[in-house]
Amino acid sequence: MFLTEAINRWGVFVSGCLIWIPIAVWILAIIHMWVGGDIESPFAVSAILVGIAIIVFTVRPPVDWLSPVLFGATIVTMVMFWPIRRLALEHELKEIDVDRLERALDACEARPDNAASKLAAAEMLFKYGQLGHAIAMADTALAGANPAHFRKELAALAQWRAVAQRAASPVSACIQCGLTNPAGTIRCSRCEAPVLLDSVRGRVVKGNLMRKLITAWAVGTLVVVGVPTVFAYLGKQPILAALGILGIAGAAIVIGIRGRVLET
Ligand SMILES: [Zn+2]
Repeated sequence: MFLTEAINRWGVFVSGCLIWIPIAVWILAIIHMWVGGDIESPFAVSAILVGIAIIVFTVRPPVDWLSPVLFGATIVTMVMFWPIRRLALEHELKEIDVDRLERALDACEARPDNAASKLAAAEMLFKYGQLGHAIAMADTALAGANPAHFRKELAALAQWRAVAQRAASPVSACIQCGLTNPAGTIRCSRCEAPVLLDSVRGRVVKGNLMRKLITAWAVGTLVVVGVPTVFAYLGKQPILAALGILGIAGAAIVIGIRGRVLET
């Protein structure tokens, strides 16, 4: 009895000391995203308040087990945050490339003899693994070109061919109608869909992925932190505990709708 009590008190003490570190990192990250415009003010303010509340609950818990549980939950949600953020940033960088490819392809369609835009498109296609398309595009751009002026580009093309010989690179079918067009075709010959652009873009998640991921993370954090807190404070009063859980569920739905994770 004395031992469990000692361990519980020790858990409160250690968690109460260590909780400041992840929450400080958390609050700094939120301020950083707030200033950067990634998240809205109400969301940032509530997240900071939640962080402060977690410190209070951990340092002065109503029951001893809450402190280590909250500390563990905080660490888990923070560890989950970094891969989510990285994924969102990668997605944003890809969107920039897709825009660039779209502009290059528009220029190719406007002026089919424009070698520079074809080469720009080919480079982007190669970057995203569309070897067949990239080679076909570069081929038409460099056909009949003066080798002395395009030494670098011809060397790149030769290198792409070498890669293509080693790795099979099937030309993807049209997303709209399923027709497989010849490599380097900008628009599907059957349905006019932008097949080259789609080969890189794929079936992109519409809307701001960053926002969706942060929202999903916030909802997860709310549940992981909120449910044990409700039980610690209201576990002896079932009706109040049920209301508390309902409150958490309601807040999760509101955040989900505002962050457009839940869409109707
Ligand atoms: Zn098609």
